[in-house]
Amino acid sequence: MDCLFCKIIAGEIPSTKVYEDDNMFAFKDINPQAPVHILVIPKEHICCVDAINESNSAVVAKIFEKIPMIAKEAGITNGYRVISNCGDDACQSVKHLHFHILGGAQLSEKMA
Ligand code: AMP
Ligand code: ZN
Repeated sequence: MDCLFCKIIAGEIPSTKVYEDDNMFAFKDINPQAPVHILVIPKEHICCVDAINESNSAVVAKIFEKIPMIAKEAGITNGYRVISNCGDDACQSVKHLHFHILGGAQLSEKMA
């Protein structure tokens, strides 16, 4: 499958890893939109939030269990935002489910 994030998980495309376990991979966004901008992705290819279902949602729960630790280890101390863009209107550019962690500064009140 020609998926950029599957290739990053496989090590075929380099990334700056910040966390990895059996279920997920977390790495720095190549085009950061905040002082801390990390992407957390399931190792299983799931295209987007629309494709989360009973059979694959456990990994999403595991990702959210780890996000506080990933944010803390990245130096975030005063809050952060978690975003997942789904589909064209949300400008999802990589069709592998990912959660953006944004922090390290006061973020915009606007989300869209
Ligand atoms: P989205 O627009 O929600 O699909 O987010 C995709 C994110 O992936 C963007 O923030 C990009 O900057 C980021 N990105 C694209 N290619 C890479 C890469 N090779 N390494 C790290 N982040 C990437
Ligand atoms: Zn993928």
